[in-house]
Amino acid sequence: MKKYVTLFILIILALIPLGCSDSETVDNKASSEIIDEDKENQQTEIKSELDYAKIQPNEAGQIMVLMYHSIAPEEGTWTRTPENFRNDLENLYHEGYRLVPLRDVILGDIDIEAGKTPVVLTFDDGTLGHFNYIKKDGELVIDPDSAVGIILEINEKYPDFGTAATFYINSNPFRQPEFAERKLRDLVNFGMDIGNHTYNHMNMSEHGSKEIQKQMAKVQELVNKSLPDYSVDTLALPFGIWPQEQYRRFAISGEYEGITYENIGVLEVGSHPSFSPFHKDFDPLSIPRVRASYEEGYGHFKFFFNNYQKDPSNRYISDGDSDYITVPEELEDKIDMDRFPDKKLRTYNLDKEQ
Ligand SMILES: [Zn+2]
Repeated sequence: MKKYVTLFILIILALIPLGCSDSETVDNKASSEIIDEDKENQQTEIKSELDYAKIQPNEAGQIMVLMYHSIAPEEGTWTRTPENFRNDLENLYHEGYRLVPLRDVILGDIDIEAGKTPVVLTFDDGTLGHFNYIKKDGELVIDPDSAVGIILEINEKYPDFGTAATFYINSNPFRQPEFAERKLRDLVNFGMDIGNHTYNHMNMSEHGSKEIQKQMAKVQELVNKSLPDYSVDTLALPFGIWPQEQYRRFAISGEYEGITYENIGVLEVGSHPSFSPFHKDFDPLSIPRVRASYEEGYGHFKFFFNNYQKDPSNRYISDGDSDYITVPEELEDKIDMDRFPDKKLRTYNLDKEQ
């Protein structure tokens, strides 16, 4: 009997640690599951906390891709003064706009706070007023009145504004050959981009496939001298003119002497805001731009800026969550979800109870 009792005790002793360790594992699992569930609940809560009435997200709304040319002391059709450019940025910031890279718009990857509107800055022709180095007290500094200087200044004042901008260059970017390579590297370090404006600012409709590919590839080659891995992947059509129909595809991709290029976006000249990348009519290879100037008529910055101020319902307003595309219910049929299989569509109707 004693033998059996001992055996029984031994079995119990042997089982206890097993039992303990088993139940511990189960407990661990259970508690980690609870934590996961908690996390999920929290996330759902954060998402459902979106105040639709206050934010009125509209990710089907329009986006201004602003087209600047010279930044120089005298205002004109193709020139903005440093002071006016500074004011443009101040006005944009205070009206809830945030700078986003063109690439993020094209890829539908707009990452800004809920309630804010994306805006894209573009500069054509790579002039000195875009990016100028000057000597100050014997030191080389960025001209505070050049476009780059002003963007950095405003971003320092409002760090959530951003620094995104694309500079469309030709053969002599920013007109200081001695600093050309350094400037291209600096731009990328500042969170800015370099775009193609053809090597000699060509009228693409007047040339055939070889010359178009040469002028496109030579800009890519020039950029790669300072930035070997940088892919110049957007084009601003010089004069807004496409090649002839049979050569049109060379504005998008091609090759010259072993140098290849591939554009994910093509910018035109004027004259209205772009569709949202989620809108079914968005075409990344034909993106319209808004002219940034003192003029107030249709096609110009002030026209759309003032209209959006009066009636924000047409402009893109972010939901602050890049996993979701959020639009008012009546715009649901404008969205092309096929291009964004990883995102979820969310609609709302302020007239109905959420
Ligand atoms: Zn140009």
